[in-house]
Amino acid sequence: MQTDRLRIAIQKKGRLAKECQELLKRCGVKISFSGERLVVHAENMPIDLLLVRDDDIPGLIMDGVVDLGVIGENELEEVRLERIALNEPSEYTQLRRLDFGGCRLSVAIDKDQTYNGPEDLNGKRIATSYPNILKDYLDKKGVSFSPCMLNGSVEVAPRAGLADAICDLVSTGATLEANGLKEAEVIFRSKAVLIQRKGEFDAEKTELIERLLTRIQGVIQAKE
Ligand code: ATP
Ligand code: ZN
Repeated sequence: MQTDRLRIAIQKKGRLAKECQELLKRCGVKISFSGERLVVHAENMPIDLLLVRDDDIPGLIMDGVVDLGVIGENELEEVRLERIALNEPSEYTQLRRLDFGGCRLSVAIDKDQTYNGPEDLNGKRIATSYPNILKDYLDKKGVSFSPCMLNGSVEVAPRAGLADAICDLVSTGATLEANGLKEAEVIFRSKAVLIQRKGEFDAEKTELIERLLTRIQGVIQAKE
């Protein structure tokens, strides 16, 4: 069900939420975020914001439910690979890489273990929330592993005896260190991106997206 208003999905709360809201404000989109609303209408443009869990954003775009979305490339790629495996729609258009949400997806192991390369992971059980990206990476290296799917507390899995290693998002490495782990291999570098659904857009929406992109360009350049 499409509407005349441009629908943009952003994370409701979390690491991308504040900067998304800030970016839209700097682009001149007037929004008052309040309470537990799922949909927020911009006051001065035909834009509706959908405030959701970040995990839902790639699917909303790939199913064509919303027009634009802001999402970390890690989550986007994980859902894309999962959908390809399930034969579900997995297409989108990337409009722009943004200047926030930087992190890397890395394999980490016990800090006292030696690491000579991906072959050391052969046959190991690896705890992760990103089984598809990890498999894609290790397949290409000819390494096989057993996944241990966890959506939280991944970093405690080795100590809890659930896994030999982990594959998780890292920014400073402090969480790894606190859990007696060390980064062994970076498998994916990520930033937030602005993406668009496939399919037709009417002239008004096309023009509005163009305008937004020009403004985003300006906002990012002004910060550099
Ligand atoms: P939600 O409740 O929306 O599902 P979440 O807990 O899955 O939230 P956040 O922790 O808010 O997600 O992270 C959202 C995104 O922020 C990540 O997918 C990643 O792209 C980015 N990010 C940047 N730095 C980090 C970091 N140090 N750790 C985790 N994610 C990070
Ligand atoms: Zn999430």
